[in-house]
Amino acid sequence: MKIKTQGKCQQCGEICSPTKATTHLLKCVASSPPPSQSSTGGFLVRVFGSGQPNLYWMYIAIPKDATLGQLDRFLRDIWLECCGHLSEFAIGARRYMSHTESGRPSQSMKNKMGQILSPGMILEYVYDMGSSTELELEVIDQLAACPPKEIALLMRNDPPPFSCTSCKKAPEVICSMCGETTCTDCSEEHSCAVDEGDTYMLMSLVNSPRAGVCGYEG
Ligand SMILES: [Zn+2]
Ligand SMILES: [Zn+2]
Ligand SMILES: [Zn+2]
Ligand SMILES: [Zn+2]
Repeated sequence: MKIKTQGKCQQCGEICSPTKATTHLLKCVASSPPPSQSSTGGFLVRVFGSGQPNLYWMYIAIPKDATLGQLDRFLRDIWLECCGHLSEFAIGARRYMSHTESGRPSQSMKNKMGQILSPGMILEYVYDMGSSTELELEVIDQLAACPPKEIALLMRNDPPPFSCTSCKKAPEVICSMCGETTCTDCSEEHSCAVDEGDTYMLMSLVNSPRAGVCGYEG
């Protein structure tokens, strides 16, 4: 998909394309008020949907004292969580699972980000090993001052300008079987329905790389 979305800087309100966002944030975050005593160092990180980096993307600030488990929760809250699936980070040859085989939170989620991340690093992330959603995280640079223990959203993509595949109006629905987006009216005649009135495959279209997957509706 070639659609490119824009996003708004949470700090100054400037609208950026995904390609301009890095330069803008490095400048904008650096010019923010001087670190308070409680602030800590951290990282500027770009997160994007694998294979569609300019469609679903966001920039976050991760303090060094945040844990891997906090990052997992942050990604789930904003883009992913449907039914408590397993997730996994892959960093180089290392893998960090969110839960153990028995379903308990895994010890590796207690790792501090300051011990894991360094600028230039790419992390791969998978939510749900069945109907998986795959993300990539790129560590852009160090940040001198972040609020401690709290991951902050700096910018995220606006909803993609999709249109209804039948009438071109703004769509509200995505089909979990074929991935087509439609408006509510046209969804009644959607071709994936085998029996008249079948609607189980139709889900609300949300601004997330997990739109139309499993039970995810935002
Ligand atoms: Zn800004
Ligand atoms: Zn699910
Ligand atoms: Zn329509
Ligand atoms: Zn369909």
